Amino acid sequence: MLTCMFCRKKGEILYRNLIDVFCGVKGKWDIAICRQCGIAWRLSSSDGSQRSNFYNEYYTHRLNTEDWAFKLVSGNTNKNMPLGQRIQLALFFNDVGLSVTHSSVNPAMIRILGKSRIAHEIIRGRTCWLGSGNGKLLDIGCGSGQFLALMRHIGWDVTGLEPDTKACECARNRLGLNVFEGTWDAHTFERNTFDAITGIHVIEHVEKPIDFMKQCVKLLRPGGRIVIVTPNLSGIGHRLFRASFRDIDCPRHLYLFSPSSLKAVVECSGGRILRLFTSARHARWTWVDSTHIHCFGCFPKKVGRMTMLCGMVFQICESYLLSLMPLLGDELIAEITKDD
Ligand SMILES: [Zn+2]
Repeated sequence: MLTCMFCRKKGEILYRNLIDVFCGVKGKWDIAICRQCGIAWRLSSSDGSQRSNFYNEYYTHRLNTEDWAFKLVSGNTNKNMPLGQRIQLALFFNDVGLSVTHSSVNPAMIRILGKSRIAHEIIRGRTCWLGSGNGKLLDIGCGSGQFLALMRHIGWDVTGLEPDTKACECARNRLGLNVFEGTWDAHTFERNTFDAITGIHVIEHVEKPIDFMKQCVKLLRPGGRIVIVTPNLSGIGHRLFRASFRDIDCPRHLYLFSPSSLKAVVECSGGRILRLFTSARHARWTWVDSTHIHCFGCFPKKVGRMTMLCGMVFQICESYLLSLMPLLGDELIAEITKDD
């Protein structure tokens, strides 16, 4: 269907015959865009491929046990961790106001690094820009629960909602989290229940983003905060790589937002935007994955040192570009509240 769900204007085809470069699901898909409000949406596959197959090999099923945050929540931090991980851990402790343990990184270095734009956004992103707290947090589409485990570690009373059975089992059995199996529209939470609600790379997967946002607003207590994180269709990564941009992620991403279209979703859902901004925190992967998709038509299985170095240079450039043009980052973040 080529009519925009917001402005009812006729959309146009942005890309034709895209394939699944991440999980290899068979099929071809087109993406349409509305030039009026900037939203893009995936059109149905002509061969009738099944949505139930799209997530069989998806990355949220697994735990990343090498991650410093996983080591922190499982009590396995030590002075033998790689320097990069010890620095991130110290920056994290500095950011959430905890005293540093097992870091052995020079505090002066942490103070200096903590002021850098890149380090700041990487570390703030780990708490979804919420920082520490002691309220009730709901993470919708929590996957295997790594983010929730970290948030629990810094004081939040956490709950997860996740449609995938394997991911739910992982979150419950490996991390001991309170996770409900189900989609955003099938649960029994009461209105005004949560102090904070996060949807990290979720809204682009749901069939009805406006209803999804309305549900988030309903469950939030007045004055609380919703944080929505999603790819930015107007970011430098998509402008540069076009159909090879890693976050097109066909067929799983049903919608792709620009700042204006995400704002439109929030405003017609009864929420109020506190801050709308973009981030370059994953931009190295934009470079690494998108160049590989461009050249070979799939995600890379292994990444060479030189490619990773190029990715890091790209991330540094993007990060500093954002000080001049703040809405060009590859990841779009909306902090939202409701008034009553
Ligand atoms: Zn539109």
